[in-house]
Amino acid sequence: MQVAPRMQRSLRPGDTIARFGGDEFAVLLEQVPDEQAAVGLARRLVAAFEPPFTLSTGEHFAKASVGVAIAAGTGNTPAGLIRDADAALYEAKGRGRASFEVFDRAMRARTVERLAVENDLRRALERDELCVAYQPIIRLRDGSVVGAEALLRWRHPRRGVIAPAEFIPVAEDSGMIEPIGRWVLEQACAQAGEWQRSHPDSRTLGISVNLSVRQFMHGDFEAVVASALADAALAPPSLSLEITESVLLREPEAVSETLRRVARLGVRFVLDDFGTGYSSLAYLAGLPIDGLKIDRSFVRSLFRNERTTAITSAIVRMAQALSIEVIAEGVEDERQLEALRTLGCQLAQGFYFHRPLSAGDFSALLAEQDERRAGRASTPA
Ligand code: C2E
Ligand code: MG
Ligand code: MG
Repeated sequence: MQVAPRMQRSLRPGDTIARFGGDEFAVLLEQVPDEQAAVGLARRLVAAFEPPFTLSTGEHFAKASVGVAIAAGTGNTPAGLIRDADAALYEAKGRGRASFEVFDRAMRARTVERLAVENDLRRALERDELCVAYQPIIRLRDGSVVGAEALLRWRHPRRGVIAPAEFIPVAEDSGMIEPIGRWVLEQACAQAGEWQRSHPDSRTLGISVNLSVRQFMHGDFEAVVASALADAALAPPSLSLEITESVLLREPEAVSETLRRVARLGVRFVLDDFGTGYSSLAYLAGLPIDGLKIDRSFVRSLFRNERTTAITSAIVRMAQALSIEVIAEGVEDERQLEALRTLGCQLAQGFYFHRPLSAGDFSALLAEQDERRAGRASTPA
């Protein structure tokens, strides 16, 4: 344990430090002269974690997030103080890097809001408020629809349609991502199976489903995937599971193990938002990854920034060299499309082609595609 001594060195004699469980610690400062003093300590704690830890397996980096709540003059109870510090910690963690936050009233409001969302979300599945939208994935060579990305939507009875960015983090924190993620997977597989059977030109239509770390690390994830495929009578290679690089960073050993096991079912793995995380190329060498999705931040600045264009080009060429697929996401205009074509990118999705569609609209799109092809086939040469 090298953590506690490092923390202790940042404290004053007489300050109390307690382990809260797992990787959470509580520090109680009595007699702090003012808020600045507490902030100063928070800053020292964060800094104390900057040097790597030396373990038998080598040097390891950790980072600390700190939530600060001040009791003086608030009449807060001890339990209230811990709750407030926890709310501040939640926000510090949410910033995704080593940092600290001091609790304020707005945070309490956000906590209340988060709890309300969590409550509503618990019932959303039972009440059939969740639905899946499908964004077409286009093959640039001929403009045909070769796949769909399943994107979760929540039709909230009072708040209208809520985007996943708003509720997926809540679902992840509360553990609800497991049943919800399973539902999306089952729904998307069933839908893809049906489309493959009813549209002769889409017999190999692919379906992509986004995964959260927590879902992925859940013990029976492999069984969940296998049964979704079986129930949908869908061939495993038709299913692509999208994971982000952050998934790979969490617990690299356990994640790689699960990834390999699930890949053995025959499903494909695609790295989503590629280029925005750590993009450790070692993953690509060692793990069964079948495709990369170029993040839309790259696509967006294809014209404005030469370096972005160079990186995008390198990603495409690397994917080609590895014989894996590369998909550009967030294509919004013709110029971006042309640039991607020039770089040799073969697949894309984005508002330029289609927004995420309801299942009904997606079926209509496939039907149009069938008709166009039938028309072309029957036209005498
Ligand atoms: P993502 O997987 O990177 O999905 C692409 C997002 O980009 C979608 O947002 C899509 O609507 C949006 N998009 C597509 N084309 C364009 C475009 O041309 N321009 C712009 N500006 N945006 C475009 P959405 O549906 O709001 O989803 C956001 C994120 O939520 C997804 O990012 C994914 O990480 C997550 N998500 C969605 N559904 C699920 C799910 O079922 N499970 C999990 N765990 N995460 C999900
Ligand atoms: Mg995705
Ligand atoms: Mg993405």
